[in-house]
Amino acid sequence: MKFCSDCGSLLEFATPAGDDRGRFICRGCGAIHYQNPRVVVGCIPEYEGRILLCRRAIEPCYGKWTLPAGYLENGESVSACAVRETREETGACVDDLTPYRLFNICHINQIYFMFRGRVADVGEGPGKESLEVRFYAEAEIPWDQIAFRVISETLQTFLRDRRNGSFPFGIGDIGSAIGQGIS
Ligand SMILES: [Zn+2]
Repeated sequence: MKFCSDCGSLLEFATPAGDDRGRFICRGCGAIHYQNPRVVVGCIPEYEGRILLCRRAIEPCYGKWTLPAGYLENGESVSACAVRETREETGACVDDLTPYRLFNICHINQIYFMFRGRVADVGEGPGKESLEVRFYAEAEIPWDQIAFRVISETLQTFLRDRRNGSFPFGIGDIGSAIGQGIS
């Protein structure tokens, strides 16, 4: 960030009085431009024991498989976002949404919020962000072709919980060593 979005003046990065960390401050109008983590919302769409995955048609990780997920929009609830992203990326309509996993991905300033959902209607197939969509049984999941670590962790936890017969909500952390996120 270089210029003020309010007045166009040059910004400096400094700690405002009474604050405890650096912010972008406008030299012209004095506005402080706060930056905070972005929220990515996704879904595990399930139908008769199989999971709907989509193959990415965009970078990063073009051609890899993932769960539908994307950035939360202003004015949108997290559950509405999960439904919208699932429809946009897979064509499918999900209902019975249940909050399932939250991941802190601090090194890239992202929060992932994942729901479980039931596929009510498979719809008309993938949107423009996906090359193809497919229902996977547990034994068929292409683990070496999963796009992001947060997605493989979500899938592994989901499959383990399903074997145990319960899906408690949980919070996890994705570290910087091998962590990746959507950009
Ligand atoms: Zn300004």
